[in-house]
Amino acid sequence: MKKSYLALIAAVIISVAGVGTYRHNSSEDAPVNLSGEETLSVHYIDVGQGDSEFIRFPDGRNMLIDAGTSKAGEELLSYLDSQKVQRIDYLIATHPHADHIGSMSDVVKKYDIGEIYMPKAAATTKTYENLLTEIDKKGLSINTARANVDIINENGLSAIILAPNSQSYEDLNNYSAVVKLVYGNNSFLFTGDAEDISENEMLSAYADLKSDILKIGHHGSHSSTTDAFLDAVSPAAAIISCGKDNSYGHPHTETLNALSKRNITVYRTDQDGSIVLDCDGKTIQKR
Ligand SMILES: [Zn+2]
Ligand SMILES: [Zn+2]
Repeated sequence: MKKSYLALIAAVIISVAGVGTYRHNSSEDAPVNLSGEETLSVHYIDVGQGDSEFIRFPDGRNMLIDAGTSKAGEELLSYLDSQKVQRIDYLIATHPHADHIGSMSDVVKKYDIGEIYMPKAAATTKTYENLLTEIDKKGLSINTARANVDIINENGLSAIILAPNSQSYEDLNNYSAVVKLVYGNNSFLFTGDAEDISENEMLSAYADLKSDILKIGHHGSHSSTTDAFLDAVSPAAAIISCGKDNSYGHPHTETLNALSKRNITVYRTDQDGSIVLDCDGKTIQKR
């Protein structure tokens, strides 16, 4: 899977123009029956210092990965409402930190929920317990998120979990469910807060990491995005989800340097607000 120079040139132009088109090498075979205007949209929602990504599939189904902090709840729900969401078909909590599951109990309460995926990570926070209670109240069950679990595996559309690969970690961040979404020839990698330990495990497991768009791990912290991982993913563009003037100094300079050294276009929720990418299985366009 070699990216064409066109895509790289496009990525450079975009960083100037602020509008993006990422094109895959058209000679590649699309294992799909994509007809005309079937669009898949990925929304990297601005939830301040946290993560939340909403994906709308061409057939109307959707997926929500993480739900920001509890503070961002009102904004998140109104964003989802603006997208006319009534049901979340696939709800994924990458890991039980409050900047990822802070408003997830509100999401579970408000919408019809299909499948839920969460890693087996023990957490005892009130936020986490509230979420489990809400899930229980609705009579929903939780699927374990771990490497090699297929959330969706259909002709031309798949969402596969690539991490966590181990049973236990010292840091909750490494429990992060890492999801690779593939639509036709386009691919998106969502990494939660997975750090170098998990990244190395994915590399050791020979996971198919190559993706057009990378949601940078752990808000751009230097604890994630190793050179080896970034080279394996080799994205045309990267998204950093973080809050304005956050106290962690995210994104860290090391991460920004690694991205700029490779001419990877960077979008940041703290600077760009919510970021929406539309794709038809061949081309990805920033809205
Ligand atoms: Zn986080
Ligand atoms: Zn975290």
